[in-house]
Amino acid sequence: MQTFSDLDTPSRILLGPGPSMAHPRVLRAMAQPLVGHLDPKFLELMAEIQTMLRLVFQTENELTIPMSGTGSAAMEASVCNFIEPGDEIIIGVNGYFGERLCDMAGRYGAVVRRIEKPWGQVFTPAEVEAELQQKPAKIVALVHAETSTGALQPMEGMGQLAHQHGALLLIDTVTSLGGVPVKIDEWGVDIAYSGTQKCLSCPPGLSPLTISPRAREVLHRRKSPVKNWYLDLTMIERYWGTGTRMYHHTAPISMNYALREALRLVVEEGLESRFARHRRLAEMLWNGLESLGFEMHVPAEHRLPPLTTPRLPAGLENEAQIRRQLLDIYNIEIAGGLGQLGGQVWRIGLMGYSARPENVLLLLSALKELM
Ligand SMILES: *Cc1c(COP(=O)(O)O)cnc(C)c1O
Repeated sequence: MQTFSDLDTPSRILLGPGPSMAHPRVLRAMAQPLVGHLDPKFLELMAEIQTMLRLVFQTENELTIPMSGTGSAAMEASVCNFIEPGDEIIIGVNGYFGERLCDMAGRYGAVVRRIEKPWGQVFTPAEVEAELQQKPAKIVALVHAETSTGALQPMEGMGQLAHQHGALLLIDTVTSLGGVPVKIDEWGVDIAYSGTQKCLSCPPGLSPLTISPRAREVLHRRKSPVKNWYLDLTMIERYWGTGTRMYHHTAPISMNYALREALRLVVEEGLESRFARHRRLAEMLWNGLESLGFEMHVPAEHRLPPLTTPRLPAGLENEAQIRRQLLDIYNIEIAGGLGQLGGQVWRIGLMGYSARPENVLLLLSALKELM
């Protein structure tokens, strides 16, 4: 008989594009005994999660919930609940996740209208408006924090613009929520999704989602049923709503414990101090990388603190080997470039509990040693 040893995972320092390190308090919360998904104690916890999620999303949206599944689950929910076959959606494609949105929207029968920018650049309101003036659309979708490029998309004015043209604004905040300001109500965002595994210091497994009253009306006016049963918000809103809780699927209990603790940590730290911490440590990383001879792929004004993309210096042929040594010798994970930036950049994440000065110093000294 084959035997299996005790699970023994290394304590990695996770400085890649996700997952980032889970806070010890979050891991502890996950070890709590299970309760039923309709237990009064669990219902209480659900309400607390919703209250704290609204705080972190800076919104009053009633329909603010964690979807079951990783970031891609809430991403797909953001598309499948609002798209009916033939609906037009304008998607900003300036990285890998814009591409994924196009893929998802196409599968639900949307007419996808791409606006494109080179990877690492961002869209101006004028560029979005030009496309809306060509022809109206039901949804405008933008990636707030493009983890494949390290660019932060400015959102000021985008909601108003979309609304003037009768469209909903959908944004991806997977790598921004809890790391940089996400102002759902102030920006006029109608649909926003995130994930637990990036700046929230929590393992992958749930994906926060917030829906404006305007978008909720669009959802309720659908002519056809949502094409994805598991992600159908018309059913899920009855489980997370204020009325009688209707069973839809069993909530991932332990992941909700984890998210509650992760959100409590955000509230304790305070949003502003948390954003300042992410920025301070990113600047420390940028300066350190520059003194090692790296140039950053994204200009400073649009650079994303939680995810840095240093360009690989010319002549550096063993980049994968250096990453392997970082892992084997120093226990540090960073990632290579994705898609068209493959072989051109590294992706270094400083998200949530990973964003600590000791990690930045260790990475910089390890890189100095290896290069
Ligand atoms: C990580 C990520 C996702 C997908 O999240 P998963 O947890 O991998 O499913 C979506 N969008 C962006 C911008 C991301 O960084």
